[in-house]
Amino acid sequence: MRLIIASNNAHKVREIRQIVGRYFSDMSTLREAGLEIDVLEDGETFQENAVKKAEEVLAAAPGFDAALADDSGLMVDALGGAPGVHSARYAGEGHNDAENNRKLMADMRDVPDGQRSCRFASAIALARRGKATLTVIGYAEGTLLREARGQNGFGYDPYFLYPPLGKTFAELSAEEKNAVSHRSRSLALLEQALEAERA
Ligand code: IMP
Repeated sequence: MRLIIASNNAHKVREIRQIVGRYFSDMSTLREAGLEIDVLEDGETFQENAVKKAEEVLAAAPGFDAALADDSGLMVDALGGAPGVHSARYAGEGHNDAENNRKLMADMRDVPDGQRSCRFASAIALARRGKATLTVIGYAEGTLLREARGQNGFGYDPYFLYPPLGKTFAELSAEEKNAVSHRSRSLALLEQALEAERA
């Protein structure tokens, strides 16, 4: 099955390849397929955005049998679930990870240590020709630190403490993060959904 990954985010693509690479014979990113398509992520939920991305990309990629899209972000309880679907552009359009993290730390400055629970969410949609689109969502529960720790990963990883390991996601190797991350959980759920269809 020829799969197109509806993303050019190198970090996500690497994680997706590492986790589900073995289930597809051939995987390409948008850039590798020579496609330039910018899907407007205007949904109110991660699932809505993932489905929209996967279906629009498949419609624009005639040489492929399926398209996989991920929409992910950080939900902080003390902020009512923000940054949520706005995670990539929390500090405004065109802003980067450092500025998003600075805004998050400013918003959370007065929130006491016991009230800094948060979770990463990853919605995955798999659009296929002539079949219903599959959609799943996985979470990783954590606590938001006040100081960055670690050099790996991307986005909010240096502030996201994963309590079972006592480390931030940025202190984990790619393999360690892939074993527990929201994206690994959503990809495992996708695998289960594909298996259930076969049964
Ligand atoms: P998307 O590209 O619209 O799905 O936005 C995802 C945004 O959520 C990224 O730009 C990051 O800010 C954040 N995010 C998603 N997954 C992770 C992760 O694994 N680590 C750190 N930040 C993440």
